[in-house]
Amino acid sequence: MNINSIQSLLPGLPELSPHNDPWDPIGSLRKYGKHVVTSVELTVTNLCNMRCEHCAVGDSLTMKEGPRLPLPLLLKRLDEVEHLETISITGGEPSYHEKTMKEYILPILQYARDRGIRSQMNSNVTLDLARYELIAPFLDVMHISFNYLHADDFHQVGFVNSNRPVSRDIAARMYERMVENTVALSRGGLFVSAESMINMRTHEKLADIHKLIDEMGCKRHEVHPMYPSSFAAHLPLLSLDQIRIAIERLLDSRNPQLWMLFGTLPFYACNEGEAEQKLLSRLRSEPNVTVRNDPDGRNRLNVSLFTGDVYVTDFANEPPLGNVKADGFDDIFARWANHPLNLRVNCFCSEANCCGPNLLVADSYYPQVDFTKRQAIR
Ligand code: SF4
Repeated sequence: MNINSIQSLLPGLPELSPHNDPWDPIGSLRKYGKHVVTSVELTVTNLCNMRCEHCAVGDSLTMKEGPRLPLPLLLKRLDEVEHLETISITGGEPSYHEKTMKEYILPILQYARDRGIRSQMNSNVTLDLARYELIAPFLDVMHISFNYLHADDFHQVGFVNSNRPVSRDIAARMYERMVENTVALSRGGLFVSAESMINMRTHEKLADIHKLIDEMGCKRHEVHPMYPSSFAAHLPLLSLDQIRIAIERLLDSRNPQLWMLFGTLPFYACNEGEAEQKLLSRLRSEPNVTVRNDPDGRNRLNVSLFTGDVYVTDFANEPPLGNVKADGFDDIFARWANHPLNLRVNCFCSEANCCGPNLLVADSYYPQVDFTKRQAIR
């Protein structure tokens, strides 16, 4: 498979790079002077062939599911979003059924190509390569999770919440297929972005995980701390110092040619700690390193394609803000502007390129802090 020839037909869109990340809400905030919807995340399935220990949507996973919203309704609602720049397809595991890939996901990706907007799919890429090759020519970013050094790590983490035990042999075959698929898709020209979490299991292994991600040919390594959502709600949280030290070690050993994207970091330019300020300053000056502002509730909405319910994030415990059967995304987003939860974290320090913390991060590490009364220090 070589998808480069098709991807190069993208009409005039700048290449995804450390200088161009359309998922970061800071771009649209600067462009429009306020937060607007530029990104829609579509939950296309609640089925998954894994049950990871840390799964941020684990409580929503099911064994079977009903019909999705009619595709024409979804495409109409996407069409109405005035400033749409990106869509993300998520689950569950979106590739769980080939039929879903062919009949639902592929037409959505073709819509994105026709409209000139960017697309991402979150997948564990453990199924047949052909499923991913089917959509690769129309997809901009294949986003995978990679938190392992070998098949045993994968076996330990990937099936903790399964009803039935999964043998080491089966897990090892899935791990090998995931690695082979990642290599094949990367070689074919697809932009594979591998995300690692910083948590109790990974924080001392990130340098070696980074090496494997680089060797598989991924174009980007994303790193996010784990936060207590869904299955991860009862896992131990790292301290801020542990997270900071893990990032520093990773920066010391990474390949400086490979784009590293840090997201949902719990460090802000308004924090007074000298070590944190030093880390932020290093993150700003390292080559090919970016820190993405959190899109949830800034420029992105999530919609369940089964109910039509719309949320500010796919792993929120909050009730839906609206439903696409009744309203468009822009109208639903307008309700969020004055929502008490949004007002808690809706700050912006232009000089620091920061538009405030993620709600889960604020709850986890800064329960007493009113960010709207803070200012970037430098
Ligand atoms: S935008 Fe908010 S979180 Fe970011 S530096 Fe400013 S006050 Fe702190």
